[in-house]
Order: sequence, then structure tokens, then C-alpha cells
Amino acid sequence: MNDGGTGAGTARVAVVGAGPAGLYAVQALLASGPAIRVDVFDRLPTPYGLVRYGVAPDNQKIKSVTRVLRTAFDDERRVRFIGNVRFGVDLHRADLLEHYDAVVYATGAQGERRLGIPGEDLPGSHGAKDFVDWYSGHPDAAERSFRLDTTSVAVVGAGNVALDVARMLVRTPEEIAATDVPDRVLGAFRESRVTDAHLIARRGVAQAKFTAEELRTINGLPEVDIVVRPGEVSLTGEDERLIASNRQLAANVAMMREWSQRPSRGKPRRIHIRFLRSPVRILGGNRVEGVVLERNEPLADGQVRGTGECETLEVGMIFRSVGYKALPLAGVAFDEARSVIPHREGRVLDEAGRIAEGEYVTGWAKRGPSGIIGTNKSDSAQTVSHLLADLAARSSYKGRDPREITDRLRDRGVDCTDWADWLRLDGHEIELGRAQGRPRVKLPALRAMLDAARLPDPNACEGH
Ligand code: NAP
Repeated sequence: MNDGGTGAGTARVAVVGAGPAGLYAVQALLASGPAIRVDVFDRLPTPYGLVRYGVAPDNQKIKSVTRVLRTAFDDERRVRFIGNVRFGVDLHRADLLEHYDAVVYATGAQGERRLGIPGEDLPGSHGAKDFVDWYSGHPDAAERSFRLDTTSVAVVGAGNVALDVARMLVRTPEEIAATDVPDRVLGAFRESRVTDAHLIARRGVAQAKFTAEELRTINGLPEVDIVVRPGEVSLTGEDERLIASNRQLAANVAMMREWSQRPSRGKPRRIHIRFLRSPVRILGGNRVEGVVLERNEPLADGQVRGTGECETLEVGMIFRSVGYKALPLAGVAFDEARSVIPHREGRVLDEAGRIAEGEYVTGWAKRGPSGIIGTNKSDSAQTVSHLLADLAARSSYKGRDPREITDRLRDRGVDCTDWADWLRLDGHEIELGRAQGRPRVKLPALRAMLDAARLPDPNACEGH
């Protein structure tokens, strides 16, 4: 292992989380000059966070951002990947504060919001994240199975995650086979009976959060009709004003309103987009059989009010996709109301609202679950600029040997992985895909991932 960076002139920074926010932070740190070394920890043996486990499998174009993100690991002398390390279990805040001059939390949003309506816990009612984890081959979902044995499914929410879920549900098995989903997931899609996905938006067409590219994608699905009811896409005066000042929104709204006028093309699958509807009760005995939707009326400020007028939509499954939320990290301050780590421009604040020396936050754990992948670049740049200013103001650094932290993990029996392990796992998945004419086949089980990474022994975590 290279043990450069032990000198008092070199600052050592830990980044917790190897998703886009964490890796953009690494790039900004390394660009600041030679006197900095970075260790990137992740609870999984894989880098890329939501790019690997959130971006939908049928969107390989967006996933190609990994080519940019992987450059964070180009300089092996200055950056290490230390995977399969759980913060708060294998590695604690105190360890990091002891060994590093600065710590950046880039842990994203691991939880998700609930609807809080009766029937939400019936079998067949799921959080979108459970489904996304499953089709993305996330180890958390390795034991999970989804039987898509119903024709109609509701997806609650009007954001891009809801759109991803609806689109994946109506994809043909041939289209799914062209993605990197695990074999078991492909098997479930081959058996799928789903023909109709109903997106349920509580507000109006002008308040939907779908982005243009994602709307164009569903518009281009060859086997799918998009069904929008003309009576649900009328605009309020306030909507008109909003649209007049936002060309992108105007284009999105125009596209969805045009869909409402378009005759059915007689396709075998459909995405229905319902506006101004809130689910108020999920129906069913042993499993989901339907959902009661209340009609909402728009208010002048873009919000809505329930009218008390209800209809029942018969569906055999329902996914709520109403937003992710960050979960607290052991020992790190947390703003329960906003579900973020409290901070001032990326400098973490303690319980008393004072700046916590040496601790920083970026990405969804900092600003909440919003924005696209690229949003994390400027977000991380802001955090890192403050981190660097704080380091520059110090008279000395801790000067700890980089081997100390990996030794400590090994003493705790942690089977941590490094960048070379990831490259072996990556190559193995691509090889599995090549054999089937697919871009990659993901291994969802942690054990299988570690085996593919061919970890010889725990000493492997000592470096590159
Ligand atoms: P989001 O964009 O914030 O959408 C959440 C949706 O849930 C909103 O439509 C919201 O409606 C609705 N909602 C919240 N609470 C609700 C309730 N109680 N009942 C009914 N509806 C409710 O979040 P997301 O879809 O999870 O996406 C997270 C971020 O990732 C977004 O920035 C998204 O653009 C991004 N993303 C991007 C891509 C891509 O670029 N391809 C793909 C996936 C995700 P209100 O507006 O009324 O609150």
C-alpha cells in the first residue's frame, strides 16, 4: 500500500458514500492540489450509489455518467475506495474524527415517505424504493420477490421515480432483457401480467415534477399508449402565469395536454396519468384489490383541496413514490423535521446549531432528495470549498498513517473491498451479460458480489 500522505503537510479526508455527491466531492478535493489524500467509504462493495441502484435499468444512457465519476479513482496514490463498510456498525463517527482531518457525509436518502392512509401495509402495497432496489439488484433486496401477477397497478406520485416505476412495469420482457437487471428479476418480468400502470398525481398538470426527457421516453415506447383525461388537464390562471415564465414547464404541460387529445393507438399496454387525485384508502382483504381516489380541486396558489368526491380504481398492486428521505447517521446531528443533516452551506451544525469542526455534508443528505445527478456537482463544490478553507486555516494536520484505519477495520473482522475488487466484480458482471447478449447482469446477493470480487482475505483492504 502506498502510505504517502502521512506527513503533517498532508490533509486526510474521509468521504462516506461513493454515490455521485461523494465522488464529485472527491474530484473537487483532488483538484485542490497535491497535499490531500481521500478515503471513500461505502456500505456496499460497489461505487456509484444511485447511479447503479437508482437510475432505472432501461436508462443506460444516464448510467454512462459512471465514466465521469470513476475518474475520482484515477490517482491511486491519493484516493482509496474502501467498500463493504457500514457506517455506525463497522466504522463509527469517532473513528473518522480520530483519523481524518475532515469527514464528508454523502450518504444520500435511504428512507422514503409514507402516505399514512388505511390499507398501506396490505400485501401488494409497497414503497417504490423496495421495487427500485429489487429491479436494480441492490443487496438489500436480494431476498425480495415481486410477483407481477396482476394486470393493473397504481403508482402514487408525479415525480421521475414514479415515472420510472410505471415505465418499467409496462416494458415488454424483450425490453427488460436488454437491460442489466439480475436474472431473477428478468424472470419475474417474463411472467408479468401487468398491462396498465396508473400514475396518480395529487395536484394538476402544471405541478407535475416529471422532467422533459422522461416524458419523451414514455412517449416513445412502441408498445404503450399514454392515457390522459381531457377533463383533468385544465389550467388555472395561476398555472397560465407559471407556464408563461417557464419554457420547459410550458413544453411539458403542452405535451401532456396533447396526449389528452390523442386517440388511442390500440397498444397492448398503457400508462394512465391521473391528475388532481389523492389516494385516501387502499382496499383489499388479503392483498390489494383497489384504491379509493378522492378528486381534488386546484387552489389559486398551486395547492389543492379535497372535494369529498371519490372513485375506486381497481388495481392488484400499489406503489407509493412520494419522495425519499435521509435517515439519521449514528452520532451525527440530524434535523428530524426536514430529514437532512443540519448544515450551513455544507458545514455540519451540531445540536446547538454551532459548526461541528471537521464535519461536512453533501448531496441528498444535505439538501433533501431533489435535483438530477449533475446537481450534486455544484452542491459538492460548495461543501468542498468550505472544507478547503477550513483546512487552510489550520496550523497542522493529524498526520495519521493510512494503514491505521484499514487495520482497525480488519481487527473488527470487516471484509472490506478496494477498487481492484470492484473492477473484478464489474468485469464479472459485464462478462455474465456478454454471454446473454446483455449489457451486464447484476449480482444482487452480497455474498456473490464479494465472491466475484475474489477477496483473498481481509488484508486485501490494505489497499491498491
Ligand atoms: P419528487 O420529484 O419530489 O416527486 C415526489 C412526488 O410525490 C411529487 O409529485 C409529490 O407531489 C408527490 N407526493 C408527495 N407526498 C404525497 C402524498 N402524500 N400524496 C400524493 N403525492 C405525494 O421525488 P422523486 O420522484 O422521488 O424523485 C427524487 C429526485 O430524483 C427528483 O429530483 C427527481 O427528478 C430525481 N430523479 C431523476 C431521474 C432522471 O433524471 N431520470 C429519475 C429518477 C429520479 P407534490 O408536488 O404535490 O408534493
